[in-house]
Amino acid sequence: MKPQDAEAFFATLREANPQPASELEYSSVFELVAAVLLSAQATDVSVNKATRRLFAIAPTAQKMLALGAAGIEARIKTIGLYRNKAKHLHEACRILVERHGGQVPRSREALEALPGVGRKTANVVLNVAFGEPTMAVDTHIFRVANRTGLAPGRNPLAVEAALLERVPEAYRVDAHHWLILHGRYVCQARAPLCAECAVRRYCDHGRSTDRHLQ
Ligand code: SF4
Repeated sequence: MKPQDAEAFFATLREANPQPASELEYSSVFELVAAVLLSAQATDVSVNKATRRLFAIAPTAQKMLALGAAGIEARIKTIGLYRNKAKHLHEACRILVERHGGQVPRSREALEALPGVGRKTANVVLNVAFGEPTMAVDTHIFRVANRTGLAPGRNPLAVEAALLERVPEAYRVDAHHWLILHGRYVCQARAPLCAECAVRRYCDHGRSTDRHLQ
């Protein structure tokens, strides 16, 4: 992608979806952290199904801690890797209660100190809960950034750095949502829907396909 096309690329995505949002369901910053922690290698649909029940009885770090790892585990069995995730969530709640008064800290270092919370999860929380222009590079963003040529990189950290450099400032806060949704529904892993893609004219892959057809 030509650097000068990044603006039009995001303007097009914004036009189609002016207020992009996470597809995970949550009603507080704590629930967001818990949902993102549970969502690793699982679909948002499967996480939402479990968290509707879980958050109804444990909407705070204190209540989640009181539920115990076994109590959490029993309620999230539909989510992949649920045993480890239950342990991580329980331990994360212990730290939130003991060190942060049950609140979610607004610091990357403190977030990454929570079990089950890595750089990507911390980036999601800093972005979605606190409005910081972070780039949480998941599998969709990694693919879209490389395929389109927007922010190529060999690993998620390289793509994150490239995105922070290439995404025009006006789009930085919402960029990660637009890229995830575009990757999930249009620029899909096995068969990208290039023929109906609104940003095709800016995308390296789309333009090279067009050239082959000419
Ligand atoms: S043109 Fe194809 S490869 Fe490029 S962003 Fe659109 S769907 Fe993805």
